[in-house]
Amino acid sequence: MDEFELISRYFDRRVTTPGVVTGIGDDGAVLEPEPGRDQIQVIDSLVEGVHFPSDSSAADIGYRVVAVNLSDIAAMGARPRWMTLALTIPQKDARWLTDFANGLFEAAAEFDVALVGGDTTSGDAVVATVHITGEVEQGRALLRSGAQVGDTIFVTGTVGDAAAGLELLRRGVHDNFLVNRFLRPSARIATGWSLVGRASAAIDVSDGLIGDLKKLLEASGVGGELDLERVPVSDAVKLHFDEADRTRFALTGGDDYELCFTASPDAVGSIADITAVGRVTDGNGLVCRQDGDIVEYEDSGYRHFQ
Ligand code: ADP
Ligand code: MG
Repeated sequence: MDEFELISRYFDRRVTTPGVVTGIGDDGAVLEPEPGRDQIQVIDSLVEGVHFPSDSSAADIGYRVVAVNLSDIAAMGARPRWMTLALTIPQKDARWLTDFANGLFEAAAEFDVALVGGDTTSGDAVVATVHITGEVEQGRALLRSGAQVGDTIFVTGTVGDAAAGLELLRRGVHDNFLVNRFLRPSARIATGWSLVGRASAAIDVSDGLIGDLKKLLEASGVGGELDLERVPVSDAVKLHFDEADRTRFALTGGDDYELCFTASPDAVGSIADITAVGRVTDGNGLVCRQDGDIVEYEDSGYRHFQ
């Protein structure tokens, strides 16, 4: 199978998405942006053995490489429109490619993102890189840098599920809600949209709540306080792990792809599935409190899969 055949067989699906003037097949894609919109460009790679175990299913890898990029688009408050794919694979295995493409297009279909181009190469390990272009109303993108002293810090959903799922995968457990939270994260696109004009700053939680919240606070030039007892943890994590593991997953586990944002509580009252976990203060750095008392929490950095 040559490269042309591979592309046309697995990746060149008819695109009816608006704005695609010329998709796969030419030297470059021709795209028509909506007038009055800013473009958001995001890119993320998944490397075999670093971001996922070598025995991951091709469908999960395909799904996940789109989902992690959609999460960055969500954190910007944008609408995803078009994507490109750079894929490195050891051999051109038809079964693997079919499954990978199915996973990739499944995630793309959920948010109507069109695959408009890419590059295919062979190499020793699987590396999948997706680049997505999104759009947001001019000047309205959600940035990390807008947090204001007195804002409340919120997080969507529950945190720590993906790191817990990865731990279960390591123990050989496969069919489980938490494992799926790792393998098939769902980007918070709808919440991201609803935060535009309401949140003062936002970031997606890819490297752990504490680490990512610190990045937001630093970008905004403010400090923050996190109330550890309010950090939302799922029943599934409570069922499988003790207090110490739960806390570690929730605070420093990555790959959840939830959103962490700052806002005045009045502005976001109507938004579902969010939890207030702290507040923005003057000064700098993040202070963690357990039931009011300051606690030191050592963040050794999330290692993804390694
Ligand atoms: P070039 O030699 O100009 O780089 P290629 O032969 O690599 O072109 O690719 C031909 C066309 O197929 C281009 O439009 C490119 O964007 C697209 N393409 C290549 N690989 C992929 C892929 N994995 N997924 C989607 N489109 C791809
Ligand atoms: Mg070319």
